[in-house]
Amino acid sequence: MAKTDLYEAPDYYLLDELLTDEHKLIRSSVRDWVKKELSPIVEDYAQRAEFPSQLLKGLAEIGAFGPTIPAEYGGAGLDYTAYGIIMQELERGDSGIRSTASVQGSLVMYPIYAYGSEEQRKKYLPKLASGELMGCFGLTEPDHGSNPGGMTTNIKDAGDHYILNGAKMWISNSPFADIAVVWAKDEAGKIRGLIVERGMEGFTTPTTHNKWSLRASATGELVFDHVKVPKENLLPNVAGIKGPLGCLNQARYGIAWGALGAAMDCYDTALRYTKEREQFGRPIAGFQLQQKKLAEMITEITKGQLLVWRLGTLKNENRATPAQISMAKRNSVETAITIAREARQMLGGMGITGEYPIMRHMMNLESVITYEGTHDIHLLITGMDITGLDAFK
Ligand SMILES: Cc1cc2nc3c(=O)[nH]c(=O)nc-3n(C[C@H](O)[C@H](O)[C@H](O)COP(=O)(O)OP(=O)(O)OC[C@H]3O[C@@H](n4cnc5c(N)ncnc54)[C@H](O)[C@@H]3O)c2cc1C
Repeated sequence: MAKTDLYEAPDYYLLDELLTDEHKLIRSSVRDWVKKELSPIVEDYAQRAEFPSQLLKGLAEIGAFGPTIPAEYGGAGLDYTAYGIIMQELERGDSGIRSTASVQGSLVMYPIYAYGSEEQRKKYLPKLASGELMGCFGLTEPDHGSNPGGMTTNIKDAGDHYILNGAKMWISNSPFADIAVVWAKDEAGKIRGLIVERGMEGFTTPTTHNKWSLRASATGELVFDHVKVPKENLLPNVAGIKGPLGCLNQARYGIAWGALGAAMDCYDTALRYTKEREQFGRPIAGFQLQQKKLAEMITEITKGQLLVWRLGTLKNENRATPAQISMAKRNSVETAITIAREARQMLGGMGITGEYPIMRHMMNLESVITYEGTHDIHLLITGMDITGLDAFK
C-alpha cells in the first residue's frame, strides 16, 4: 500500500540559519526523493526483508554515493556538512538505505580515493558514484568484531598475485556488491586493503537471513577460498589498522547525522499522532505525561543537531578528531533509540504496526547502535581520550 509521507523536520533552534543555500538545496532534493521514492515502498520491503534495488539509480542521481569525492572522479565535491545532511535525510527514511549509501561512499569510495593508486581511482570511482558498480566493506570476521586488529583473513604473495583466504561476516551490501574492499593480513602480519571483484574464483557472498533489524538492507558474508587477487588490486597507500579505521571515521561521521534523522522522524510522527488522537475527550498531546516525552525528545534532538553541525564544521576544517566523531555517533544513536522507544509507546497499539515508521526505525537502530563500533566501545574511546588510559584490553 502506497503511503503518504507527511514529514516536517523539527528545527527548534533555527539551525537552518547556519546552513548555506547549497546545503538547503541539497537537503530539499534528498528530502523530496525520500518522500516520493523511498517512503511509499520501504515498509513493504522491510516487512519482506528485501532490499529495494530499484532505488540504487535514484540514490546515485541525488548524489548519495561519495558526495565528498572530487568531481574529477565522479563525486560531487561537496563539504562534510552537505554529506551529513544527505545521510540525515536518507536515514529519516530508513537506516538500511542510509547504510547502503554510507558503505558505498565512506567504506568503498573513500578508501579507493584515499589509499588507492591513480589507476584504481580512475577505474572504480566514477562507476561507483553512478551506481554502475556497487561495493561492500569487509572488516568484521566471525571471531573478530570489536577487535578487528585480531583478524585472521590473510594474503600470501604468489608472484603477480596474492592468494586470499578467510571469511568476513555481517557485511552490508555483500549479496549484491560487484566489488569488496577487504582487509587482510599479509605475511608480515600487516593489515592491507584489497579490491576483490565478484566472479573471482573461490569468492562467494552468502546472504545473512533472519534479521529483525535493517530488514530493507542486504547483509551477508564474504568467503575467500584461495582467491587469486591480482597485485594491482592492493590499495598501495596504507598499511595497518589505520586503513580501515580511517574509513570507519568517515562512516561514523555520517551515522552521527543519520541517526538523528531517524529520531526526527519518530518525533515528528509522535507529535502529529498525539495531536490528532483523542482519549478521554481530548487530544493525548494535551496530557502532561505525553508532553514530557515530546519536550524531552525535541530537547535531545536539538542538542544532537548542534553537536553534528559543529562536528561538520570541524570536519570541513580537517580538525575533527576520531574521538569527537565517536562521541557524536554514540550520542545520536542513543538519542534516536530512546526517542524511537518512547514514540512507539505514544502511538499505543498503532505504534507496533507498519502504518507508521517508528517500529521499523526502532529495530533498525538496534543495528546502528552495534555496527561501526558498538555503543560501549565508543564510550571507551571517549574514556581513553579524556584519561589517556586504554580500558579496552
Ligand atoms: C546489520 C549489520 C551490518 C553490518 N555491516 C558491516 C559491514 O558492512 N562491514 C563490516 O566489516 N562489519 C559490519 N558489521 C559488523 C559490526 O561492525 C560488528 O557487529 C560490530 O563491530 C561488533 O562486533 P561483534 O558483533 O562481533 O560484537 P563483539 O565484538 O563480540 O561485542 C559483543 C559485546 O561485547 C562488548 N565488548 C567487546 N569488547 C569490549 C571491551 N573491550 N570492553 C567492553 N565491552 C566490550 C561490545 O560492546 C558488545 O556489546 C555489521 C553489523 C550489523 C549488525
